[in-house]
This record gives sequence, C-alpha cells and structure tokens, in this order.
Amino acid sequence: MKITKDTIVTMHLKVADGKGQLIEASKEPMACLIGGYGNTLPAVEEALEGQEAGYQVTLNLTPDKAFGERDEALARTLAKKDFPPGVKVGGQLELREGDGEFKLYNVVKIKGDTVLLDGNHPLAGMTLKVAIKVVSVRAATAEEVAHGHAHGAHGVHH
Ligand SMILES: [Zn+2]
Repeated sequence: MKITKDTIVTMHLKVADGKGQLIEASKEPMACLIGGYGNTLPAVEEALEGQEAGYQVTLNLTPDKAFGERDEALARTLAKKDFPPGVKVGGQLELREGDGEFKLYNVVKIKGDTVLLDGNHPLAGMTLKVAIKVVSVRAATAEEVAHGHAHGAHGVHH
C-alpha cells in the first residue's frame, strides 16, 4: 500500500543535528497518521508521499523545514523571587503573555537571582538530519481520522 492522506505509517525515526550528532532515536517504531494532521513535520510527510513499506530516506532539513528559526524575543528572564517554587532547570513554566495567552517556556538556567527562560522549540534554529525507515503502511480507520492521530500498536491508547 502506498503512503497517502489518511494512511497510518509505522516507522523508525532517527534525528541528528547538522553535524550528524544523534539527538533522538526511536526505540520502538512510531505510528503516525499522515495527511496534514500535524503528527509529523510537513517535510517528512512530503518525503513519504507515494512510498511503501521498506522505504528508507535521510532528509536534510534546514530550520525553515524543521522547527523554525529561533525567536530571540522568546528568550526571557524572570527574577528568582517571582519564580514559582518547585520548577527546576530542564523544567517548564507557563507564563501569561501581553495578549493574555499562555505560552510554555523551558527553564534554561539560573544565574544569580535571575532565571533564564526560552520559549523556542528546543530544536528551533537547527538543521536536522532525519533518517526514516518505513515499517508498515495501512489505511486509517474513520475513528483515527476523526481524532487526527493513530490508534493501536505504537499509536495513542485511550
Ligand atoms: Zn484517538
């Protein structure tokens, strides 16, 4: 079966930075509903379109094809005294923005009495090498399409 909109692709993914340094490798394959549901990067969906089980590819994705450029406006500081207790470096914190929306920040560093936060995706600004190996392809069920994600083995369980 060919990969197209509303198919479930089970695949192994390996993500490295532009120098080939491994960032993330899936131990288990992941099941992904294809068709613009935001389950994987559009560039990955584009590369898989029309392919079948057994297909392997390594993509070189510039930041605009991956997680975007860094937005330095999202690198913020907060006085340690205003910092909620229990949040540590490596943790996350939700802050209310000027427009009243909440935005998730990663706690990057504590420096003296200042806490450095970064609201960028951890992979923003990076060129990524994404190695993909397609294990299997099947048609999505109507329920999966309605939910916008894969169920069953290696998918969402609920
Ligand atoms: Zn579901």
